[in-house]
This record gives sequence, C-alpha cells and structure tokens, in this order.
Amino acid sequence: MTTQDLYQQVIIEHHKKPRNFRKIDPASHHAEGFNPLCGDHLWVYMKINAAGVIEDISFEGDGCAISKASASMMTQNLKGKTVEEAKAIFSDFHKLVIGQLNPETEANVLGRLSIFSGIWKYPARVKCAALAWHTMNGALGRETTVSTE
Ligand code: ZN
Repeated sequence: MTTQDLYQQVIIEHHKKPRNFRKIDPASHHAEGFNPLCGDHLWVYMKINAAGVIEDISFEGDGCAISKASASMMTQNLKGKTVEEAKAIFSDFHKLVIGQLNPETEANVLGRLSIFSGIWKYPARVKCAALAWHTMNGALGRETTVSTE
C-alpha cells in the first residue's frame, strides 16, 4: 500500500467513525475554531488535571473529511499526554503540514500523525488539517475562538 492509499484510508475511516466526538461538560479548557476558507467549524474540549495531564479531550462540529479526521486523530493522540507533550506534538504537526518537517528523515514526535506528510502540496487543505490543532492550542492559551484566517 502506498502512503497516499494509507492516508486516504485513514481519513475515510476517521471521518466515518470519528473518535471522541462528544462534548466534555464541564471542560477545564475549550475553544471554538473556524476555517472560513472551507467552512470547517468545530469545538475542542479538554479536561486537564492539576498535574498538567490531559485526562480527556473531545471535539464536536462539522466540516470536511480532512478536518474531522484530523480532529479525531488529534483527540486519540493527545489523550493521556501532558500539556507540554501536546505543545511539542502541535509544533511538529504544524511543521509537517506546511512542509517544513520530513518525518522519514527528521526526528519527531508525530507517530501515526505523520500520514499527513503530503498535505503541504495542497495548500487549501492545510488549514483543514490544522484547524483542530490550532483550536486545541487556543484552548490551552484560554482563547475562546480561533480562526485560520
Ligand atoms: Zn476543510
């Protein structure tokens, strides 16, 4: 299977069956994210404990397959991680989607998230893939709304 086939399979699978697709109430951190370019609109919720561990993370909203699959994979990946680890993964993911990190040759903390490695070739889709991550990062910084514009 090629990387492109794997990418498509994973996107379709997460879009059909998004993980952690629910509201956390009460959440310790949450934010709303928009990607006006595509129409993606989602909310990210987190429950972070006193030790700085993300005990629970979820999302809700609507958008294209890439935005929803990326949000789904993000929640799966960040659950149980510390805030510091989440920031490091966000940083690597951001570099990956804009084409500044090659996961095959450069050290990174992306794991399965590296399937998004080819997306920088499609600039219109980069914001779709990054929306949930920017929203999560905004929630950590106590922002209530995040826009990719
Ligand atoms: Zn989109």
